[in-house]
Amino acid sequence: MTKEAVVYFVGAGPGDPELITLKGKRLLEAADLVVYAGSLIPKEVLSHALKAEIYDSAGLTLEEIIALLAPAAKAGKVVVRLATGDPSIYGTIGEHTEALRAEGIHCEIVPGVSSFTAAAAALGKELTVPDVAQTVILSRCEGRTAVPDLEKLPLLAQHQTTLVLFLSITLVKKMQQDLLTAYAPETPCAVVYRATWPDELILDCRLAELSNTVKKAKITKTAVVIVGKALAAKGKRSKLYDPAFSHSFRAGKRLE
Ligand code: SAH
Repeated sequence: MTKEAVVYFVGAGPGDPELITLKGKRLLEAADLVVYAGSLIPKEVLSHALKAEIYDSAGLTLEEIIALLAPAAKAGKVVVRLATGDPSIYGTIGEHTEALRAEGIHCEIVPGVSSFTAAAAALGKELTVPDVAQTVILSRCEGRTAVPDLEKLPLLAQHQTTLVLFLSITLVKKMQQDLLTAYAPETPCAVVYRATWPDELILDCRLAELSNTVKKAKITKTAVVIVGKALAAKGKRSKLYDPAFSHSFRAGKRLE
């Protein structure tokens, strides 16, 4: 029986080469071919690829990428498509897997640490705080890529929960205007540039100063913006560790 043709989609994590899963690292070590997103994946992550032929996808079209991946997978090689962060978030894996599956190639996806969780870690914050925010919205501003009508930023802002914006730092002026239609001007914001890279930069500000803060720091790429009251919340406790709350692993104690 011939070996099944497989392409592995591996989440490379946000930048720090130690923030790839053990499975992702093992696949890179075994890979014969790696196609990676050059603009967002540092060379150090590629150092896990010990013997692979390596291609940067930055200058390639989907068709050209598939033309690299498919024949190698069919020849029984270990083929890795390396995506930044987690492949399921703006990772273009939908279009990749559709094209590969049409050629009878099996696609296996290995998750990664997304830049938004790396950014939350850099900030030392919880994005879901009891009584303050129980929902995290991941989105982007509309630029050259359209956003469906029901997901336009002023509509998402209505929820006033924790909101993370990817791929939008150059649109920060319009972002601020749209957010101010619902969030208060003093709502805390954080911009995290190149989370986990050696030159990581964190900017904290109020929503009213978001655009000026980003412009002053001259950040024009590789940043997430996080907005919401959760960033400044204090003194909130979960039910999970509340002494008076019972659940299947712990009986609550009556407080005098
Ligand atoms: N799949 C990726 C997102 C890819 S889209 C993930 O899960 O993180 C590319 C966008 O991700 C960038 O425009 C930026 O908004 C964000 N991004 C990627 N790496 C980042 C990093 N190290 N720090 C901050 N933002 C990052």
